Amino acid sequence: MRKIDLTNFQVATSETARQINRRIALNFIRHHQSMSRADLARHSGLQRSTVSAIIDQLIGEGWVTEGATGQAARGRRPRFLHLNVERAGILAVDLRPETTTVGLSGVDARFVRQTSWPTPNDPAAFVAEVARTVASFKAAHPQIVCEGMGVSLPGRVDGRGRLVFAPNLGWPPVNVKDLLEDAVKMPVVVENAANACALAELWFGQHPEHVRHLIAVTVSEGIGVGLLLNGQLVHGSHSMAGEFGHVTVEDEGPPCPCGKSGCWERYASNAAAIQFYAGERNDDSPAVAPAVTRFDDLIRRAESGDRRAGEALDRLARYLGLGLAALVTGLAPELIVVIGEVTRVWTRVGPIVEAIVRKRTLTQSIARIVPTDPAMQPRLRGAATLVVQQHFGAPNVA
Ligand SMILES: [Zn+2]
Repeated sequence: MRKIDLTNFQVATSETARQINRRIALNFIRHHQSMSRADLARHSGLQRSTVSAIIDQLIGEGWVTEGATGQAARGRRPRFLHLNVERAGILAVDLRPETTTVGLSGVDARFVRQTSWPTPNDPAAFVAEVARTVASFKAAHPQIVCEGMGVSLPGRVDGRGRLVFAPNLGWPPVNVKDLLEDAVKMPVVVENAANACALAELWFGQHPEHVRHLIAVTVSEGIGVGLLLNGQLVHGSHSMAGEFGHVTVEDEGPPCPCGKSGCWERYASNAAAIQFYAGERNDDSPAVAPAVTRFDDLIRRAESGDRRAGEALDRLARYLGLGLAALVTGLAPELIVVIGEVTRVWTRVGPIVEAIVRKRTLTQSIARIVPTDPAMQPRLRGAATLVVQQHFGAPNVA
């Protein structure tokens, strides 16, 4: 139960009740993929007449189609309701320090088109490139009506879309949402990549419907943590919740782009593993030039039997496990999903992570640690989910 905030509340109207019932109906149809009006009334407990009024409206707005007749034991054969996944075109942007990927999907977050380009250093150049990409997508798919854009990025943005913290991106504190909305002329939602990935797992992951406490951990240039607790994203003050990547592990550790030293992500990220491979680091001596600069290359070397490359991955795994154990003990999630290239070597890394988490957590813990499939493009799907949830999520009341 939430305390009502008297500085920011919304009173319930008859429209509120209608909106809630409409979203419940829409979610039932989405979940079951196809169901009859009678099934919907039975599952939801809504009156048949209420169901019919909602469905007629959803069909009128193009969200739902009523199609092929099904089988019935007796009486009139029911017609099945389906979600029209093409109702809204969604533009998804996965902004990473090196590469940006832009995709076009329906409300099922399946991409019909996508492209990638090197991320410009300058936000204005980035926005111009996004606008050019969107124009080319629209020209290629003139029948799709784009309703919104979701952007996942390696940093934190405040409630208005302004970048408040992005050490690995190195941009000034621009308002990413405003810049993009001006350029693409549609609503834009901007969110931390780990938060977006957590939402994507909630809406599209193959998890039980009742999952309410889920943590997404992105392992890339740094470490991002997205906290979805009690079914809701946790943003914290200044939207800075989840910055476990910058929790100090070693006071005297290597410097971090955030300005501190010895942060967790300096030990458990792709960049950290590359540094481990380069040799023992010491702040007093210049770092040995890394023999590999890309995490992909490190994985390839480990897979082809380079012992030092394998040890670098094992060391990353141990530090990843240490941090995940703290998340499990402190936040009691049901599920931790790991996102990033490291999941490609999960047969090596996973058992090390699991062993450390098991050793360091309480016996009551039920948390499962699950690697995501890189083929599902979790960050891009997360960006699309930012728009999807606006159409399917529960409306805010009180
Ligand atoms: Zn840091």
